This record gives sequence, structure tokens and C-alpha cells, in this order.
Amino acid sequence: MPAVTADTVQLPRLAEPALGAVDRPVRKIITAPSGFEGEGFPVRRAFSGVRLTDLDPFIHMDQMGAVDYGPGEPKGTPWHPHRGFETVTYMIDGIFQHQDSHGGGGLITDGATQWMTAGAGILHIETPPEELVVRGGLFHGVQLWVNLPAQDKFTPPRYQNLEAGQVVLAASPDGGALIRVIAGDVAGHQGPGSTHTPISVVHATVSPGATVGVPWNPGFNALVYVLGGRGTVGPAATAIEGGQLAVLGAGDLVTLAADDRQDSVTPALEVLVLGGRPIREHVEAYGPFVMNTRAELAQAVADYQAGRLGVIPANALMPHRV
Ligand code: MN
Repeated sequence: MPAVTADTVQLPRLAEPALGAVDRPVRKIITAPSGFEGEGFPVRRAFSGVRLTDLDPFIHMDQMGAVDYGPGEPKGTPWHPHRGFETVTYMIDGIFQHQDSHGGGGLITDGATQWMTAGAGILHIETPPEELVVRGGLFHGVQLWVNLPAQDKFTPPRYQNLEAGQVVLAASPDGGALIRVIAGDVAGHQGPGSTHTPISVVHATVSPGATVGVPWNPGFNALVYVLGGRGTVGPAATAIEGGQLAVLGAGDLVTLAADDRQDSVTPALEVLVLGGRPIREHVEAYGPFVMNTRAELAQAVADYQAGRLGVIPANALMPHRV
């Protein structure tokens, strides 16, 4: 799992949790079902079965892969629209190429994040580049959907490309865990992503046998998704493993501990810790649109069909076929 790696000895350390800090309890553990997205790439639906009020301000998350493709097998999405929210695509292994109807685009690879504010409307494509399609290879990432409040649903579309080198790194007090701050603030470590709705996204790698208390904004919700490996979460050391999500209750920190023994595929506990300030508005979602009312959804579909969410550019990137 490349993402961004570093020797924790060199990194700034998180402080020990403050006396009296509340360790967020586990309210629920779910196992993400497997499915397929776009033109048929394998995903796990990380938030499946969790109430939107527990996810708020998030809507949806897919773990994409991990899959080791043979030649000719890599797949992405065709051109498709979005309105009313932001997509955050974090690539851990492999490459996704991206282009949108507002001139944004580029390669997202090994630890980089692409942040797309769809706002009023956008068309885009996410696809493996030709060289990856031809040769095959490892593909592993995450796509997270962050809601926009009603007042920002029609904000102009925006694109932020966060390179792997911009991810802010820190270590647990004993150096046993690597903390990558992709967005938001964790105990003063400010990640590069800028969002309408305040959120924090952390990718933590916890070495076998190690424990870390990740300070967490008490005004945010807290979700822990395990990308790989096994360990425990919360004050009662609730067991959790790859493909499972923990919904946590209120408090000041999130405790993660890696089992002494891990498997050879994932030699450490790899987790995403996610949270944000709840928007507390009614959500109506349909396919690629996330709005507040059913009338707004119908309008989004009509606007898309009329070309008002954008048009596929003349030099459009298209899926590569072998
Ligand atoms: Mn999309």
C-alpha cells in the first residue's frame, strides 16, 4: 500500500491525549457489501446501511479495489454528471485519469487526492490511462461524497488537485502510527483539502501491536473505515477488520489499535478516519445528484438532459479499449 509513506522517527508527534479526554465509543459496526461501479470496477460500499443522519455531512463512500488487474482489464466510468455535492477521490495505488466539462483534469496517483466541487453542475470522466489499461496493475483508492448545504448547492464548480507531497504527516507519540492528514485539521496539523463544509479526513497506518489516540474535533461526527488489516477501535477495544466501518459516538479522540499479527497482504492496520460538521438538512439523492427536495432532483435531471450541467468537450478523454 504505497500512498505516502515516511519514517515516523522524522515526523512531528501527536501529543498524548489530554487528561479527561473522552474516547469516542463504538455505536455500530457494519460490513461493507461488494459491488461494481462505472464500467464494472469492483468497489465496497463503505457506508451501506448507515443512516444519513449518522453520516452527515457525508453521503456515500466507495473503496475502489484493491484489485490487481490483468492486461486489458482496468475499468473506469463513462462521462456522467453531478450536482449538489463534492467528490473526493484518494488514490492509494495505481492511476486514475480525470477530465471535466469546466477544463479541470489530470492524473491522480499513489497518495494524491482529487477534490471536485460539482456545485451547480459538472460532467466528468474517471478512467484508467491507456498505459494502465494495456499493462494492467494494482488499483486501490477511495471516493467520498461530501454534501453541500442548501446555500452552496449551486456554487460554481471547482477542482483541486492535491498532490501526494501536500499530504500533512504526523506520528503517534511512540512512533507506532503514521497519520496522513488529507483534509481538515487534526490537533493543529492542517491538511491541504479545502471544503465548503468543515471536515477532516485522515489515513492512518498503525503498526502491528501499536495504539494511537487521534484527537478529533468534538463538533464533528466520527467514522472509521478499515481499508485493510485487523485491530480494534474505541474504548472497549471493539474488533474491526478490512471492509468494516465503525460509527462512533461523541467525544474528543478516536482510539485505533492494530493486532499483533497481520496478514501478508496488509502488514499493518490501514484505516480512514472521517468526520465533519453536520449540515442537518433534509437530503434527497438520486444517482449522481444530491439535493434538498424531490423537485430539485427532477430539475437536476431535466437540466442534465438539456445540457445545462455542461457538455462533453471537443477533445474529450474517452475510455481506452484494447
Ligand atoms: Mn463522478
